Amino acid sequence: MLKSAHKHHTFKAWQNESFEKRKKRARALLLCMRGAYPRTTSVLKWKTPMQMLAATMLSAQATDKKVNEITQEKGLFKKYKTVNDFASAHLKTFQKEIHALGFFRQKAKNIIGAARMLRDECGGKMPKTIEEMTRLPGVARKTANIVLNHVYYIAEGIAVDTHVIQVSRRFGFTKEHDPKKIEKDLMKLFQKKDWIWINYTMVEYNRGIHRAPRPECEWCYVKNICPKIFKK
Ligand code: SF4
Repeated sequence: MLKSAHKHHTFKAWQNESFEKRKKRARALLLCMRGAYPRTTSVLKWKTPMQMLAATMLSAQATDKKVNEITQEKGLFKKYKTVNDFASAHLKTFQKEIHALGFFRQKAKNIIGAARMLRDECGGKMPKTIEEMTRLPGVARKTANIVLNHVYYIAEGIAVDTHVIQVSRRFGFTKEHDPKKIEKDLMKLFQKKDWIWINYTMVEYNRGIHRAPRPECEWCYVKNICPKIFKK
């Protein structure tokens, strides 16, 4: 039987570890993951900053593959390119266009709302700080981090999503559950120069070798230091 990650307190395995030791172990693990999965950017496809923001917002509760299908193959991003394009979108039409991605009402409202705010209050430009980004409707720290990483190559924090939470807890990088607290722990643990690619490496790793329902422990680069909580 596979065990659920949530029932285990993996942090306990490392609770006596010094912070300096944890820092070294964390970086070594991260580099192993990056060795196995060198991609350091999101797989979402986009051309303009507004498309990057929209794609990230659309990817909530949907796969990146499905988002790319709608934005590329189905032509959403051919129709909507600039802040103005999104800001002047017709709500009902836009809802239909993104329907397949789920939560379409909320997503349409937030994306169009964010574009209007960018147009009316930010001179049509994507802001360069998390503080300003998170003023946009539907934009929390994770989305703000991802957009800043890609559009400006700025890493003010670390984008924390389900994958980052799972990996970070599995390896005792944090004992927290709350994404904001996890982000703080990770920012203390990792060097600033690594922040920009941590999310994408952990996501790829968690989706790859460690994929559910059966992690490929045999082929895993970090099997010697993994608590193997998902193993039989
Ligand atoms: S050894 Fe297995 S459980 Fe541990 S990280 Fe690798 S794939 Fe996941």
